[in-house]
Amino acid sequence: MQADDRLAAIRGRIAHAAKLARREAADVTLIAVSKTHPAETIEPLLAAGHRVFGENRVAETQEKWPALREAYPDAQIHLIGQLQSNKAAEAVALADAIHAVDRLSLVTALAKAMDAQARRPACFVQVNIGAEPQKGGCAIDDLPSLLAEARAANLPIAGLMCLPPAGIEAAPYFALLGKLARDHGLTGLSMGMSDDFETAVMIGATHVRIGSALFGSRA
Ligand SMILES: *Cc1c(COP(=O)(O)O)cnc(C)c1O
Repeated sequence: MQADDRLAAIRGRIAHAAKLARREAADVTLIAVSKTHPAETIEPLLAAGHRVFGENRVAETQEKWPALREAYPDAQIHLIGQLQSNKAAEAVALADAIHAVDRLSLVTALAKAMDAQARRPACFVQVNIGAEPQKGGCAIDDLPSLLAEARAANLPIAGLMCLPPAGIEAAPYFALLGKLARDHGLTGLSMGMSDDFETAVMIGATHVRIGSALFGSRA
């Protein structure tokens, strides 16, 4: 299948799930996760009109995207991977949204970089929704204080993000993230990947992060 056919198929599935849930498909942003894929693979999606992409590494984004952005200045980059505080300034310079804000040191570093650059990409606080020790994300118990600190530091918090445990039904974790967002007056929900995005859309995802279903499997 061509890139534009794959894109149309995914958009159709998002639209169907949204309709079942009595939602507007336009309220769901499709983030095409292009990490590990070269510019030649990404360009056909841009040519087909897609503009929102996800990358997980600052260095890879800096390598791949300047040329693509020259050709498509309205392309948007969402950084979805774990971020080291010492990369905060580069992330703020590069990204239109940052999905992995998960600890105070990163909040502080991002706030400082945003003030210095007068640029404020939307931030999602990543929650370790399955309390998995090997995963990033802030613990549910720490979410109230982290959000308070992020708000005090003037970070533009758009919502919450999660990566549910692999291999089990994701719906309860998506529902829990939705409840946490409502409890904190947040509307953005970054959840759902290639294997579970329709479920996520039905539960209220505003941003789905889809890689392999769009680009094929990663090396
Ligand atoms: C790689 C990645 C995705 C995309 O995963 P697919 O299963 O390929 O759709 C989504 N979110 C995050 C945080 C990722 O790192």
